Amino acid sequence: MSKSFKRLSVLMIAAALFVIAGCGNNNVNSNNAGGGNNASGGSTDSKAIAKIKERGKLLVGVKYDTRLFGLKDPGSGNVEGFDIDISKAIAKHILGDENAIELKEVTSKTRIPMLNNGEIDMVVATMTITEERKKEVDFSDVYFQAGQSLLVKKGSTITGLEDVTKDTKILGSKGATSIKNIKEKVPGVTVLEFDNYQDAFSALKAGQGDALTTDDAILYGMASQDPGFEVVGEPFTDEPYGIAVQKGNTDVVQAINDTLDGLKASGDYAAIYTKWIGKAPAK
Ligand code: GLU
Repeated sequence: MSKSFKRLSVLMIAAALFVIAGCGNNNVNSNNAGGGNNASGGSTDSKAIAKIKERGKLLVGVKYDTRLFGLKDPGSGNVEGFDIDISKAIAKHILGDENAIELKEVTSKTRIPMLNNGEIDMVVATMTITEERKKEVDFSDVYFQAGQSLLVKKGSTITGLEDVTKDTKILGSKGATSIKNIKEKVPGVTVLEFDNYQDAFSALKAGQGDALTTDDAILYGMASQDPGFEVVGEPFTDEPYGIAVQKGNTDVVQAINDTLDGLKASGDYAAIYTKWIGKAPAK
């Protein structure tokens, strides 16, 4: 009995290998036939786009707790925001259908591990392009320009970065550039780190800190939720957002950049920007 089981297993493995090999060849063929040499990717050997096409849906890591960029409505279960609209446009470009997409929640801390584990094809989640992150992932062109700022309770004595001292209690999200930046700007400052922005904002409301720091665009989303809080001072860093993919997936980067170029040329980028940010994009 165990012998026949063993035999069956061998057969199944052989069959599986055959299918994998067959699929692989088909992909290469259909990819070449469909896209020719001018298909996205150019000189790359990356087959990441072929894998996405074979799967038939794009797996995108987005924020679920960040108003204006990626916010899940607990009632409907819908996730909405600037990053979601950009993600749908990428799905449309790659798969011909903006709904051929599965969103997965990431936080600032989990997004790179989830990407590099293969749980998602890309991260579209308020993520700044930095030299440090470029060691772990590849980025698209810049698709949004933010800057770090401060959110305080109205009437706070903090009116900008110049009022932040070593004795100020700052709140932020783990894995965000904002934590490192504020520590560099104000050496010795106390920073309480939370798992996500929702928790950090709840802590600010509960009086556990003096100011919450992250990108101005995210803070404006929080302030719009609660009139008791406001964004103060001028942005004090540059946070150019990029879409991250696994290192070496140059065909996906190319497809994303083509999508962004197309959105800009058609005016759809400006429409998405105005829809969420409420004003026309700069330049
Ligand atoms: N853009 C900054 C970053 O990538 C802050 C926003 C965030 O935590 O996602 O870290």
